[in-house]
Amino acid sequence: MSNVILITGASRGIGAATARLAAQRGYAVVVNYRQQAEAADALVNEISRMGGSALAVKADVASEAEVSHLFAAIDERFGRLDVLVNNAGILEQQMRLEAMSLERWQRVFATNVFGSFLCSREAVKRMSTRAGGRGGAIVNVSSIAARLGAPEEYVDYAAAKGAVDSMTVGLAKELAADGIRVNAVRPGVIDTEIHASGGEPGRVARVAGHIPLGRGGLAEEVADAILWLAGDQASYTTGTLLDISGGR
Ligand code: NAD
Repeated sequence: MSNVILITGASRGIGAATARLAAQRGYAVVVNYRQQAEAADALVNEISRMGGSALAVKADVASEAEVSHLFAAIDERFGRLDVLVNNAGILEQQMRLEAMSLERWQRVFATNVFGSFLCSREAVKRMSTRAGGRGGAIVNVSSIAARLGAPEEYVDYAAAKGAVDSMTVGLAKELAADGIRVNAVRPGVIDTEIHASGGEPGRVARVAGHIPLGRGGLAEEVADAILWLAGDQASYTTGTLLDISGGR
């Protein structure tokens, strides 16, 4: 049976690119989505046409009940889980701190931080060698905002991704004895819809001049790094925060 990978927020962007590449590399893929059922179904059909195995499951990763349902669906269809990619994330409009509401911080932390916690907790129950599992890997999708701070723009998002980084380092140590490696990628500015839908349309072009490699990144370039961290080639890598940022 193929290794099974769950990618949260996989109906588009970095998540969808990771799902495609994972299927090409022989994983059975669980495509989690929150709203975009059509896009998730289209991705599952695309993977099936390639001869791969995929399942779309709707769940808001910030909801404990929906995450429980997501993992029950994986148990039922595949009966195992080898890799969790905590990719689902949101970025809200650029704003200075004085204008930010508590609700905004709660929304940003709910998906980016609490969602990663809830999914990791369920994954560990299934992967841990101490609980009879085969071990596995967790890859968190953080951001270089965690390091740069995103002043006057998204300090809430930067703080949330900083929490993801701390969780990555801490869980890597905690879960080593469970046979689970935990790492994160920290993308720079990647050309996806997150900028148009929540952040700032045109951001990729605006910041390209500040990126040493001279351009925004592609979702596929992040997907490649995620799958390297997930796979056996990274067998001695845990607790690593890997910048995929064009040198920014
Ligand atoms: P995107 O907006 O295209 O994809 C994010 C996906 O997550 C969407 O499909 C969205 O529906 C889903 N999602 C959001 N909240 C969810 C929830 N509560 N439950 C389930 N799914 C949810 O953006 P992307 O650029 O592909 O972002 C993927 C990840 O990469 C995010 O964690 C983001 O913070 C991170 N990231 C992106 C960039 C960038 O420049 N694009 C940079 C650094 C980090």
